[in-house]
Amino acid sequence: MFEKISSKIRSLFGDAYIPLHTPHFGEKEKAYVLDAIDSTFVSSVGPYVQSFEERMALLTGARYAVAMVNGTASLHLALVAMGVTPADEVITQPLTFVATVNAIRHAGAQPVFVDVDPDTMGMSPASLEEFLDAQTEMREGACHNKTTGKRIAACVPMHTFGFPLRIDEVIAVCERFRIPVVEDAAESLGSYYKGRHTGTFGLAGTFSFNGNKTITCGGGGAIVTNDRNLAVKMKHLSTTAKIPHPWQFVHDEVAYNYRMPNLNAALACAQLERLEGFLENKRELAEEYRRFFSGLDVGFVWEIEGAKANHWLNAILLKDAAEKNAFLEYTNSRDIMTRPIWRLANKLTMFSECQASGLPNAEWLEDRVVNIPSSVRYG
Ligand SMILES: *Cc1c(COP(=O)(O)O)cnc(C)c1O
Repeated sequence: MFEKISSKIRSLFGDAYIPLHTPHFGEKEKAYVLDAIDSTFVSSVGPYVQSFEERMALLTGARYAVAMVNGTASLHLALVAMGVTPADEVITQPLTFVATVNAIRHAGAQPVFVDVDPDTMGMSPASLEEFLDAQTEMREGACHNKTTGKRIAACVPMHTFGFPLRIDEVIAVCERFRIPVVEDAAESLGSYYKGRHTGTFGLAGTFSFNGNKTITCGGGGAIVTNDRNLAVKMKHLSTTAKIPHPWQFVHDEVAYNYRMPNLNAALACAQLERLEGFLENKRELAEEYRRFFSGLDVGFVWEIEGAKANHWLNAILLKDAAEKNAFLEYTNSRDIMTRPIWRLANKLTMFSECQASGLPNAEWLEDRVVNIPSSVRYG
């Protein structure tokens, strides 16, 4: 079976070393970046930054977008701007890239883990509700953890590999407990749920444009929101809280240098213009994989009803941890890059003390899920 899968991947990607996901650049990228260099506006001020924000708002349907230096900083800043403090806790899923949990800690808060759904690999509304019903109480209009006494100040669900989770249900549960939601949509640019772009369901949503994502500008991020005050605050905090003035440098808060540079924004604008083509190309590949794996009787992750995924990273489900490890060994030793899903965050040393509800689905997925080559294929 491993042999069959390897030759299928080779037939799709050729004879050379096959990475998991590579960026794709053309003439437009070069032209925009060159234009930014020629203008000398390569740093935190420049027309591409604003243009990128407008395009992100247009694409996602959010009222406001703030260009950021990366996805981790986007999450960190969104949490801080929403009022998350070191006295608080933030609920997230253990099955995520470590940056999600790091950002909660950067805000000084304590992460709490609830389970994911086995089909979406994203936060389970049922597990979230069960935890909140059993373990929390409302005090002074806010949700508090009965065990620690701390306020639960935010909830951060994550759309794994671009597959939309049941975000409307997560939002409904959080509304009942008055917990604001920040969607970690780092992996789900171009993914929709019930016709709405991921990242626009919660109070804020964050994106990443790191080198391995669907589109990239080297390093970059964005926060979207419909809340005007929050948008203004986030932009202010991302730019050292400088009070706008033609020559004076006066700042009114301890803040951050988290703004996306114009040089990166130039690349980001060019990549955004190509997103639609990338998404079509990736969907074709995913459909091809899907047909192949259904014939092989190997599990292949697909979007749930009502969801439209960007198919950032394709994922297969092997029988157990032993088969998973054997497959990783087989493919990687043959120059086909495959990668296991993340080690659960609650098992990492720095988060091992965090409170966690039962996590059977996350553990089941951890043993079985492997990403296979998923780059855009042109030419
Ligand atoms: C990539 C990613 C991030 C972090 O983005 P950076 O731009 O690398 O800081 C955060 N969360 C998830 C789920 C990611 O995949």
